[in-house]
Amino acid sequence: MYSSYQLQGDVAMRKLSSFAASLLRAAKHRASAWLPAGSSDTELPAQWRSWLDQHVELRARLPEALRLRHDSLVLEFVARKPFIGCAGLDVTEQMRVVIAGHACLLVLARGMRAYSHVREILLYPGQFVARRLDAVGDGLVHEHVQVLQGESSSLGQVVLSWADVQHSTGFGHNLVVHEFAHQLDQAKGRANGAPFTVASQARRQRWATIMSREFEQHQRNAALGEQTLLSHYGATNPAEFFAVCSEVFFELPQAMRYVHPAIYEELSQYYGLSPAEWFGAAVRPVTLPHIQASAGGARPIW
Ligand SMILES: [Zn+2]
Repeated sequence: MYSSYQLQGDVAMRKLSSFAASLLRAAKHRASAWLPAGSSDTELPAQWRSWLDQHVELRARLPEALRLRHDSLVLEFVARKPFIGCAGLDVTEQMRVVIAGHACLLVLARGMRAYSHVREILLYPGQFVARRLDAVGDGLVHEHVQVLQGESSSLGQVVLSWADVQHSTGFGHNLVVHEFAHQLDQAKGRANGAPFTVASQARRQRWATIMSREFEQHQRNAALGEQTLLSHYGATNPAEFFAVCSEVFFELPQAMRYVHPAIYEELSQYYGLSPAEWFGAAVRPVTLPHIQASAGGARPIW
């Protein structure tokens, strides 16, 4: 059910998944539809534009028609999707707008219907703890905790750390894009890296062939500790691979098109977008940031 950014784990702990706990909180604190006073159906408040310009770098590069489309989607997202503060967090207008700004990049072409199954966004002030139970055979379970920046469930819930939303963009990373890519993948149920609800058999087969080949190559590169454009966390499983590829597709699209043209083409068709075109002719200098820390190192696993 879960896909997550895991920072550390494996400490024996008690029961109750974070999702079960959050459902209880959600029942108590369900948010109502929300919009700022005085906003029109089509125009963002100046303060919202300022927040988006500050936090959603790609927005400034959108062609005019897509930027207007993004504005409309942000308004709709903020109005429709409940945000629930956790661990005492008071969810502010800025938090809603910034998260909506990132999330709506993924549905610029697909539209808000692609998020129709997204029920709510739970927001923590910082990283949060999720307790896990893993079956280890003979009826035994192993309990452990993970400290997470984000989490996405197939029941339509996204959990985010606000501190990490603000600091997880750039160098090919974007926490919100990662978790909402999982949501697109989970629209059909369990995430498996093939985010299709309706697609032809030929389309699915092409995706499976290309993405499987690229995933297996990425696993080999990661196992060898090679420097890669895609985070080694994407080698975890096909669902994480799709989410990590989506981060790079939106954050470093020119680099992805150059280094992984087949993945770029598949994601471009899936998202209905070609973000590499928004950067003009100049290729941004890229320093590959994804050299993984040695075991026990401080660098987060993405
Ligand atoms: Zn993930």
